[in-house]
Amino acid sequence: MIQEVGPGHVYDNRFSSLEPADADYVLHFTSDGCLARVTHVGRADADAGDAGEEVELPRLGDYTRRPGRTIYLFSLGEDRFFLALDDRVAAPAGFSYESVSWLRRAEPQHLLFAAATGSQLDRWYRGNRFCGRCGAPTELAPASREIVCPECAHIVYPKICPGIICAVTSCDGNDEKIVLTRYAGRTTALWALVAGFTEIGEPLEDTVRREVMEEVGLTVKNLRFYKSQPWSFTDTLLVGFWCEVDGDPTIAVDRTELKEARWFSRADIPLERTGDRASLTGEMIERFRLMGRAAWE
Ligand SMILES: [Zn+2]
Repeated sequence: MIQEVGPGHVYDNRFSSLEPADADYVLHFTSDGCLARVTHVGRADADAGDAGEEVELPRLGDYTRRPGRTIYLFSLGEDRFFLALDDRVAAPAGFSYESVSWLRRAEPQHLLFAAATGSQLDRWYRGNRFCGRCGAPTELAPASREIVCPECAHIVYPKICPGIICAVTSCDGNDEKIVLTRYAGRTTALWALVAGFTEIGEPLEDTVRREVMEEVGLTVKNLRFYKSQPWSFTDTLLVGFWCEVDGDPTIAVDRTELKEARWFSRADIPLERTGDRASLTGEMIERFRLMGRAAWE
């Protein structure tokens, strides 16, 4: 998954008031994406799981004109990451703005995680320049990851929206099946699992039951937590569950959201997720394909 960046790049997001040195990464984002240098190293026919792209992110020393305003974000092992808060910076030679969601198919993994996580913090800083309560310009707290209003003392914390991913299964003897769904209105939609955001006032277990009922019209039982994963592209923390259909297995597809949804026997599960190293969805589908009910037992 995207946060699994290896023992050499342990994520440390303790806040500290630091200034960047030449070797530190200084990220910059615009509506076009993340400032990055991408080198094609793979085969031309490489697919989504093996895009053959290598990404490099800019270090302070790469900028001929240094960004005016930076803030420390986090470290991955010895690598320190900062964010340039300027609206515009002079892009270092060879760097251009790349979509962060596209970058997730490239290598190395820790820089993709840095770009994705940095993009979420960048959205948060840029979206809270003015107080949502009184409208005054906000300030950055000196010793913590908080944005504060000097007029009314309103405090804004980083935004994390919980959501669920749910593998709905049916295991009757050797007949092990899983519900896969495909979104409507996206040209490149892969087969996925039931997923959705948690509503205010709703525990995660109810999010699972509600989303499964809304998307595919099924009742479920035996919910089991699997793993969670940050998904910074949508400010989300995704929480993965296994569950089993309870009663009638007839699917009723929500056509406003989904193009299709159906039961797949293990042997028929599409292999398009086999190379998906980034997502919890991909990991859960592949785990069920290989292990069936042993995926959670
Ligand atoms: Zn205020």
